[in-house]
Amino acid sequence: MNWDDTTDAEAAAERLVGAVADGEDQAVEAALRPKDLGEFIGQEKVREQLDLVLRAARARGATADHVLLSGAPGLGKTTLSMIIAAEMEAPIRITSGPAIQHAGDLAAILSSLQEGEVLFLDEIHRMSRPAEEMLYMAMEDFRVDVVVGKGPGATAIPLELPPFTLVGATTRAGLLPPPLRDRFGFTAHMEFYGPAELERVIHRSAGLLDVEIDPTGAAEIAGRSRGTPRIANRLLRRVRDYAQVKADGLITQEIAAAALAVYEVDARGLDRLDRGVLEALLKLFGGGPVGLSTLAVAVGEERETVEEVAEPFLVREGLLARTPRGRVATPAAWAHLGLTPPRSQSSGNGQQDLFGA
Ligand code: ADP
Repeated sequence: MNWDDTTDAEAAAERLVGAVADGEDQAVEAALRPKDLGEFIGQEKVREQLDLVLRAARARGATADHVLLSGAPGLGKTTLSMIIAAEMEAPIRITSGPAIQHAGDLAAILSSLQEGEVLFLDEIHRMSRPAEEMLYMAMEDFRVDVVVGKGPGATAIPLELPPFTLVGATTRAGLLPPPLRDRFGFTAHMEFYGPAELERVIHRSAGLLDVEIDPTGAAEIAGRSRGTPRIANRLLRRVRDYAQVKADGLITQEIAAAALAVYEVDARGLDRLDRGVLEALLKLFGGGPVGLSTLAVAVGEERETVEEVAEPFLVREGLLARTPRGRVATPAAWAHLGLTPPRSQSSGNGQQDLFGA
């Protein structure tokens, strides 16, 4: 197996089925974002709860409570923050934890907010500690202490802030220190999307992009989108290109499957990296258990790439399990790659058939 052209985590992170926005996504996503809660597809619970929070705030003529959104990249956290601002008829400022390295950076942003403004802080768990502490007070009392000067002569000048709504986003709410988590009035967890919801996302985006697609085509793309609207939209654009060049522009199931075969995204949304990891696990280690480092060497990838880029989706899909003894393939993995498990595995004696299958 030759994996030389995809050997670093960065390349892997930019793959077609990656959930983090790439440059092209950023350019087109603005046009695809739902503008209000009614247009936002799926996430029924979150939508219903948020609707109540926002309505109540509007009825009181107050600024909405701070909102924490947790969930994987590409599920609609930025979109929801923009919807919150739109529903409150408030302006929005967008920044991220890693962009705020010093408390002073945060003070500058906070002190320039308008009354009622929404501050979207993506990757809030990656903010620096001093900034985080400043945020506690800002969230609770709408006040910050700005430190002027250095050393013994430094003084803290209290600064009043206008009431604002902080919308924090994080991949996992558990990553936040409890004092920060507790200061949010409302916490919503975003789930991965089901196939029917993804089909709706795809039909909606196709309409906005002026792309012709039939229901079988949308279903085919949805099945390969890893439960993530951002990936669904990205795959739709690649399939559109294919349909324009190789066919008459209409996206059918056949066209979608053929297009995504070109990009090596299989029927379950696994790409070359994912399949490489699974294939090594099955063909070289008889389905495991095998240690992460050994597996990584076998696929010619960094340990981190296998663990952080490939494995989470394989685990989520029930194709691979992380056990104390190492990585193990599930029966679904054998079925997905069309391979038969060696007998040593089914007899359960734990012996590995290195040359199995
Ligand atoms: P996140 O901030 O969680 O990474 P985004 O809000 O940027 O995700 O969403 C990524 C893309 O997916 C957006 O362009 C948006 O068009 C689309 N999207 C996300 N959630 C939905 C949804 N519920 N309905 C329709 N489109 C969605």
